Amino acid sequence: MARWLVASAWPYINYVPHLGTIIGSVLSGDVMARYLRSKGEQVLYVSGSDEHGTPIEVEAIKRGITPRQLTDENHEKVKKLFEAWKISFDNYTRTESPVHVEFVRDFYLKVYRNGYIFTQEEELPYCPNCRRFLPDRFVQGQCPKCGYPEAFGDQCPSCGSPLDPKDLINPRCTICGTTPEIRSTKHWYFDLPRFAEKLKKYVEENPRLPSNARNFSLKLLREGLKPRSLTRDVSWGIPAPFPGAEGKTIYVWMEAVLGYISATIEYWRLKGEEEKWREYWFNGARSIFFIGKDNIPFHVIILPALLMASEEGYELPWTVSSTEFLMFEGKKFSKSQRIGVWIDEALEMFPVDYWRYTLLSIRPEVRDTNFTWELFLEKVNADLNDTLGNFIHRTLTFLCRFFDCKVPPEGELTEADRQMLREVERAKEAYDRLLGEIRIQQAVQTVTELARKANKYFNDRQPWRLAASNREEAATILHVASRVVEALASLLEAFTPTVALEIWRMLKLKPGENLKAGHQVALPKPLFRKVSLKEVEEKAGGGVKVLEEKVTPEDLARLGLKVAKIVEVEEVPGARKLYRIKLDLGGGLIKQTVAGLKTYYRADELLGKLVVVVSNMKPVKLMGLDSEVMILAAEDDGRVAILTPERPVKPGSRIL
Ligand SMILES: [Zn+2]
Ligand SMILES: [Zn+2]
Repeated sequence: MARWLVASAWPYINYVPHLGTIIGSVLSGDVMARYLRSKGEQVLYVSGSDEHGTPIEVEAIKRGITPRQLTDENHEKVKKLFEAWKISFDNYTRTESPVHVEFVRDFYLKVYRNGYIFTQEEELPYCPNCRRFLPDRFVQGQCPKCGYPEAFGDQCPSCGSPLDPKDLINPRCTICGTTPEIRSTKHWYFDLPRFAEKLKKYVEENPRLPSNARNFSLKLLREGLKPRSLTRDVSWGIPAPFPGAEGKTIYVWMEAVLGYISATIEYWRLKGEEEKWREYWFNGARSIFFIGKDNIPFHVIILPALLMASEEGYELPWTVSSTEFLMFEGKKFSKSQRIGVWIDEALEMFPVDYWRYTLLSIRPEVRDTNFTWELFLEKVNADLNDTLGNFIHRTLTFLCRFFDCKVPPEGELTEADRQMLREVERAKEAYDRLLGEIRIQQAVQTVTELARKANKYFNDRQPWRLAASNREEAATILHVASRVVEALASLLEAFTPTVALEIWRMLKLKPGENLKAGHQVALPKPLFRKVSLKEVEEKAGGGVKVLEEKVTPEDLARLGLKVAKIVEVEEVPGARKLYRIKLDLGGGLIKQTVAGLKTYYRADELLGKLVVVVSNMKPVKLMGLDSEVMILAAEDDGRVAILTPERPVKPGSRIL
């Protein structure tokens, strides 16, 4: 059996991660780790806090504390938050761990002895006042590309361009503001171009790599790799082990990426099984790295090259799962502009599984996706509460009311019952296939879809009608429904573990146990509750940006709102809620819509009515019928009222 190392990108802990960070890394990794464990695989799930580098050192200096004090505080905080998010790490460690420090130094010494590291003299900015070199965040100035006045030596936060400290216009020391002088200093480089051929072969011959990782890596290889700078003239970091490199540390990016190995070593060392870590890095071990697309070069180019350069025979990354970006209400997350939700404030607002479910169901797998509060409400209210929660609750409530909370025997199955049980098997197969391909977003949808079908099954079979007249048939329906509940508990475990445990508790089963006839379940409690827009506004107010963009008159004009007259209303065979409606839009123009109004209006009430429609809608098909316009209606807690002009106007009149 293969051994699996599940790894997620190490969060940089100058602050707590936001929703976009967690979905691309630790939350996705958690789903995979939980899934593989449930299949009986040997899995180790590791990550840790990335705590070196100049952003943290600069912030610590500004706060008048040591960088270690800052990262001690943030590491503990983030670690606790990941526990609250139910991230099932086997080892969440940190780059200040002595095991990591020792491993990085040994590793680079090996690479150095193997001849893949060289030195070079460089001219770099130096602050005569602070008496230090000014790498990366230690120097600020005007961006030569976009003119932004607060660009850093390594990158411009405004246009995103990677920069060289010497390129900055009017540079100054970030700490004291002094204009730096240029001094010469020696640095160590990793000779990355020597691995270009092998890397090309690795990328081209690894069919599992997602297309964004493959394409971007091949592009970098085509453009030609450059040696990577390995050292910095700063004290906060891992001391460089090379002869003559006293006082220099390893560049943060080049050591954090080795944390996956040191975290594996640390885990087994703490267990007292020193050598066991090798089983997760050698001899056919498989590793999956959960990263955002900005991390592709470090995991598909640099990490494999370093593993090759050690000449120890490490397995190269088996695959990466590199997500696109999550946007927040159409914008980039920004701490300074308070755009987004951070993982600590998220849990202060709503239960963890509301977030896990929503984020996983919009995981940006093939393109950037957008978190909106509107979508959050829809996921919680429609998917979790009305679909999953409703089905489980009604099944167990019914079971307790009519069958003393005992699962009845199977009895004689009708075609509808067999069909429902086949849907369960189909959902399980789809779930396995999708998670096998790390398509988490669709796997989540499969589970919700199963609950949707189960609700329909329950509605169609109407066990409440049979409870008195045909108890045996009602019993069979409840037997089938209980089995669906059990399946949902299993299928939800990787996505919403707290809710899954609660379902198992109500079923009075241990996770993974099978439900048998005669088994007694507990009285159910609702798993979810509805969330209102008002609640979101109250909770997410106070700094967190909420809700909608403002609409301009032009936006409204785009809608093509018109008055139309209902000229024909017909029932749709097989649909409980739908009418097929024909509307006169004036000038002889007749259009059709399929509308869910049957529950609220009789056909004769609608006929002849003047209504408001969206006339320029992209046509869709509903139950095989064309729907070309939309009728506007107001909804108030389950009551629906059609919008109609207050006095008669001609069909086709525009709405202003
Ligand atoms: Zn200075
Ligand atoms: Zn710029």
